Amino acid sequence: MNTIAIIGFGGAGYNAARAIRKKDSEALIDVYSDSAKGPYCPMLTTYFVKGSIPLEAMYPFGTIDEIQKELNTNFYNKTVTAVKGAEKCIVTDDGTEKAYDNIIITTGSSAIMPPIPGLDLPGVFKMRTDADALYLKELLDSDKARTCLVIGASWVGIKVVEDTVMAGLETTLVDGADWMFITAAFEETSLRAQKYLESKGVRVSCGEMLDHIEQEYDGSLTALMKSGDRFNADCIAICIGVRMNTGFLKDSGIAMNRGVIVDKKMQTNIPGIYAAGDCCESIDSQSGTNMNIGVWANAQQQGAVAGVNAAGGNQEFDANILINLAHFLDYDFLAYGNIRLCSPDDDWYEYEDEKYYIKACRGQDGSIKCVNITGSADINGLFKNNFIKGLIEGETSFNVKAACQMRDKGVPQSFIDFLGGIKID
Ligand SMILES: Cc1cc2nc3c(=O)[nH]c(=O)nc-3n(C[C@H](O)[C@H](O)[C@H](O)COP(=O)(O)OP(=O)(O)OC[C@H]3O[C@@H](n4cnc5c(N)ncnc54)[C@H](O)[C@@H]3O)c2cc1C
Repeated sequence: MNTIAIIGFGGAGYNAARAIRKKDSEALIDVYSDSAKGPYCPMLTTYFVKGSIPLEAMYPFGTIDEIQKELNTNFYNKTVTAVKGAEKCIVTDDGTEKAYDNIIITTGSSAIMPPIPGLDLPGVFKMRTDADALYLKELLDSDKARTCLVIGASWVGIKVVEDTVMAGLETTLVDGADWMFITAAFEETSLRAQKYLESKGVRVSCGEMLDHIEQEYDGSLTALMKSGDRFNADCIAICIGVRMNTGFLKDSGIAMNRGVIVDKKMQTNIPGIYAAGDCCESIDSQSGTNMNIGVWANAQQQGAVAGVNAAGGNQEFDANILINLAHFLDYDFLAYGNIRLCSPDDDWYEYEDEKYYIKACRGQDGSIKCVNITGSADINGLFKNNFIKGLIEGETSFNVKAACQMRDKGVPQSFIDFLGGIKID
């Protein structure tokens, strides 16, 4: 009997367990999780806070009991503190050690809370876990806060801004970088998103690095910035990025960068030890190098591939592609590809009308490097498929049907031409 341990139980861990059970009805599956609840979806936290979904919807795969019945797994509510790579043995917080034929690491990532004075004050919060969502919802429902400062103008911060604005809080968004969404947005795109936020009453200030936070006599909080600027608010969200949960693997012999390095089979340098989801760096289809792309679809698909392979199968994951969509306050920002690969010598495209702003970069070899679209997500599905096809097959042109659908959604012919035009089969 194949014995398999899954460490961490989020979207990646659940999909690993499911794939194993589908392939092998006999395998022993031991799940280790530091949370006693079912796997939650971090992406849904802010939807729960704003009231779009009920609490149970944050747990899309059901409770631990339901999952154990569905997949016949053993569940241990324990934190794994070490992995002995050579022996394929895991160590838990109660000192127990157990060896397995295969291990799948799906420990995800955590919101960064650096050791800056004041981050432990009441009213300072982060957004990652189900507990974080419950904290913010209670705070907003209590009507105690009238103002909020969100530090970090990226994918998570923007969703917190949406929650606080919708709850009626006067909201300020600050970021240490020169513009919002710095890792994905061209400056021109970012300025448009900023203008939109400002039209909704959000104050936005970039180039502001946090120094520390102090509590005032009236209980409110003041963020003191390195520039000397001060931002006062009743509550402060820290949304400055994530750290992969890999510290416990320090002496494991498993190759790591910031995350666990895996190949296309999601296997580490140690045969029989796999990693998937936010804790790993798999091979980026655009650059060919290992890169962490922490998104929900990756977590699920990578987990499934790791599960199949741990159960004796032979699958590869080749869709590690930087694609992000932020929907906030009825506005969309879509980013495809790696902005860091762009250079001024590339071919550039820019277009704007009342529906879309589009900025795109194409390499001299015709490959699309990075595309920003703001305003509307109408073409996300169509464009995303084409972008992925371009990366995998090297073919960026549209078939007639897809081109017509793009045109129907208001996309200019010039953009279709820039992407590779129409191919008549
Ligand atoms: C606010 C927010 C918005 C997001 N929006 C989007 C979006 O729009 N689109 C998108 O695609 N993605 C989005 N994401 C990202 C997406 O949610 C994650 O990429 C995905 O959930 C990662 O799943 P995972 O299973 O790898 O990790 P996680 O969900 O982090 O699960 C890992 C689990 O392992 C546990 N664990 C950690 N260490 C140990 C240990 N040593 N022992 C035992 N258990 C351990 C953790 O507690 C956790 O329960 C968003 C995330 C956030 C926070």
